[in-house]
Amino acid sequence: MSQPPPRQPPPAAGEPLDSWPKQEAGVAVGAIVDIDGTLVDTNYHHTLAWGRAFADHDVDVALWRIHRHNGMGGDQLVAAVAGDDVEERLGEAIRDSEARHYGELIDEVGLLPGARDLLTGLRAAGCRVVLASSAKHEEVDHYLDLLDARDVVDAWMTGADVDRTKPHPDLIGAAAERMPDVTDFVVIGDTAWDAVAATRAGFASIGLLSGGFGAQELRDAGCAAVFTDAADLAEHLESALDVSRPGAPAAGRRR
Ligand SMILES: [Mg+2]
Repeated sequence: MSQPPPRQPPPAAGEPLDSWPKQEAGVAVGAIVDIDGTLVDTNYHHTLAWGRAFADHDVDVALWRIHRHNGMGGDQLVAAVAGDDVEERLGEAIRDSEARHYGELIDEVGLLPGARDLLTGLRAAGCRVVLASSAKHEEVDHYLDLLDARDVVDAWMTGADVDRTKPHPDLIGAAAERMPDVTDFVVIGDTAWDAVAATRAGFASIGLLSGGFGAQELRDAGCAAVFTDAADLAEHLESALDVSRPGAPAAGRRR
């Protein structure tokens, strides 16, 4: 495996945490929310960009195999899809190609149904909200504009904020650290890798079908509940958040 990109300072949060209404300690739930495939409709664009990037370097990979690895950052995906040998020889070059190809597609990306409603609904329910994406800083910046989310969420994390992206728990743990007054967490994402990372961090997770993963595989990966998309989850938020409460089957308390 090649070395991951150097750690960079996290981007500034939308607003200082202390500007939000205070919850009693232990009462607020910390919602750690994925972006790609969860809030913005990018999974198939990413699949195509990776497919073109592998093809640029004569690595033959079927697109469905790439789609299965959506949710991993580029630091994890090349080896997972094409093996350690390709990662060692071509990892950086393939990632550069993907960035270029995805940059040509990103203006076609739209919001998924209910994306902003989910964020505002979480806030209205008293949650703190941190976006935690394996994506690149400039892509997350683009999505924050698209979502008009800078004033809605407490903070955001990108793949550049950690040494290893999902399914490693680093990003989830770093997001939780942004909410020091919170003890109960739930991870919301669209792929099995979000659920695996959540479980490894010791937190509950909720899955959405909007990224193209199936309900059963999301449950098998550890999701305590599965909804169609952000709109569906926003509609059933109160009961859905129960999965993060102490004593819930997959309790999401900070270890
Ligand atoms: Mg995702």
